[in-house]
Amino acid sequence: MKDKCNREIKHIRFSITSKCNLKCMYCDREGFTPKTSELTVDEITKLCKVLAEILNVTRIKFTGGEPLCREEIVQIIKNVSNLLLYKDISMTTNGLLLYEKAEELYKAGLNRINVSLASLKPKEYNKVYGSDSLDKVLKGLQKAKEVGFDPIKLNFVLMKGINDTEMEDLIDFCRKNGFILQLIELHEVSDAVGGNGEFYKKHHLDVKPIIEDLESKAEKIIVRGSMQNRKVFILPNSMIVETITPSHEFCMGCTKLRVGCDGNLFGCLYRSDLGKNIKEALHNHHSIAKYEQIVKQVVDSREPYY
Ligand code: SAM
Repeated sequence: MKDKCNREIKHIRFSITSKCNLKCMYCDREGFTPKTSELTVDEITKLCKVLAEILNVTRIKFTGGEPLCREEIVQIIKNVSNLLLYKDISMTTNGLLLYEKAEELYKAGLNRINVSLASLKPKEYNKVYGSDSLDKVLKGLQKAKEVGFDPIKLNFVLMKGINDTEMEDLIDFCRKNGFILQLIELHEVSDAVGGNGEFYKKHHLDVKPIIEDLESKAEKIIVRGSMQNRKVFILPNSMIVETITPSHEFCMGCTKLRVGCDGNLFGCLYRSDLGKNIKEALHNHHSIAKYEQIVKQVVDSREPYY
């Protein structure tokens, strides 16, 4: 299904809980505030099936809140994997519970993970995440590697005056461990979820000079056309750095449909207000045509934000 700008929906970003065990200073809350209770495991499974059938998507990313705070997370992954409709099931996590859950998640059918890591320095880590848990996350990462997750991506949100001197350390760390670094430019948090205007003004850093530096060092550069035109740099020693920078090109390349933990479907991080809730429809066992109508309304509401 394509939107008015000819952008085809190719993957789903599904928040399965708004609960979280950290207080990240930059958090965008995935752009929405739940209005009703969380979808049940059965509702999540059914919705994943319906969306795959309507949109022909084969890629899904689970997020939160913190997805590992959802008690039934392993069951959710198992159910979605057993649908045999998704080729790529991934998750973005803060990694705090990864050590305990990595093996079960892998066995349940989770293909890959992104782990948020804004600093390798305990003091800075505490400042960013409000928790003394860097060691725990590092142990979780090693465990994830041991059980077979590949690739493992580190989500590094760059912030002026906080972690802007750590880029080289993160590249080294990823190179040694075979991880991919995702360099993420800080974006402003939508007003719909409380905004972070002052924080953004103080800590936003333009990543253009860093990208130019990566361009000069890279052996190969790939543009992920189906993923918001993200640039991927293959550095010497096969080290990979991906970049996520909000811009017009980024929005024009967006192929994502978002699902909130309460069943709100929406098409943009900044426009959850244009969403449609599908929870009620799931209860009424509608025909696929009815679900398609709801999904189409949401897809039609998408337009480039920048
Ligand atoms: N708790 C999970 C985690 O830490 O990955 C999932 C939710 S978190 C909102 C998902 C991702 O959103 C994080 O990895 C982070 O990179 C990104 N993110 C959140 N707020 C952001 C902001 N203001 N600017 C850039 N990226 C942000």
